[in-house]
Amino acid sequence: MRFDVLTLFPDMLESVLGDSIIGRARENGIIELNFIDIRDYTKNKHRKVDDYPYSGGGGMLMNPQPVYDAYMSVAGGLDYKPLTIYMSPQGKVFNQGIAKELSNEKHIVLLCGHYEGIDQRVLDEIVDMEISIGDFVLTGGEIPAMAVIDTVSRLIPGVLATESSYENESHYSGLLEYPQYTRPQIWMGKEIPEVLISGHHANIEKWKREQSLINTLNKRPDMLEKAELTKTDRDFLERIKRSE
Ligand code: SAM
Repeated sequence: MRFDVLTLFPDMLESVLGDSIIGRARENGIIELNFIDIRDYTKNKHRKVDDYPYSGGGGMLMNPQPVYDAYMSVAGGLDYKPLTIYMSPQGKVFNQGIAKELSNEKHIVLLCGHYEGIDQRVLDEIVDMEISIGDFVLTGGEIPAMAVIDTVSRLIPGVLATESSYENESHYSGLLEYPQYTRPQIWMGKEIPEVLISGHHANIEKWKREQSLINTLNKRPDMLEKAELTKTDRDFLERIKRSE
């Protein structure tokens, strides 16, 4: 899978996405990441990429021409249109469901704004969808783009050691994950739940499901309304609620 990021701060992305799991996936050729510096496409000698908005007010707006030329440097020679996403506080709020859909794409272009944003005309020309990482405003689209690339990449086969690494995780199946424990078995007098060392696979699976349900009920009860629950799940939740 290929991501191209159009940004004024390519080093910011390289420093974060060059390491760890994503860095290894790049080295192994599972994902390709390119960071395109929009400033390289300015046509003025001061490499200026912004100007005052016609609507007035404080702040500067990114000019359409360098953004468009940076985009064309990626998409111009292709016989298809890569899915082009503008990172924007006005977009659809990102979640695991959107990440799953995006992981099926073969090529995504992420456009990062800065300052007060980007001239609307170039957005109308190249953007297919807008994604927000939450109802708040950051100074630039780079952190949101990194969040999207990281989340989507770990769903691509081969990036994580096993698929079950993410299938059990919070949000994948509409519930939060169960609590996890590692060595030592006793730490500061606290023991891990006995069932986890019982070797009884079915009981361990039951415990994990029930703990996921309890975690979701306690931390994100809103998620239970949309989660796919079995009758056993619902009966268990009823018992828990009655005992509280
Ligand atoms: N004036 C814009 C508005 O009110 O919608 C906000 C501009 S913001 C200061 C600058 C850039 O940061 C945006 O162009 C966008 O790329 C990025 N950005 C800010 N908040 C974001 C969010 N919650 N999600 C995704 N991108 C965001």
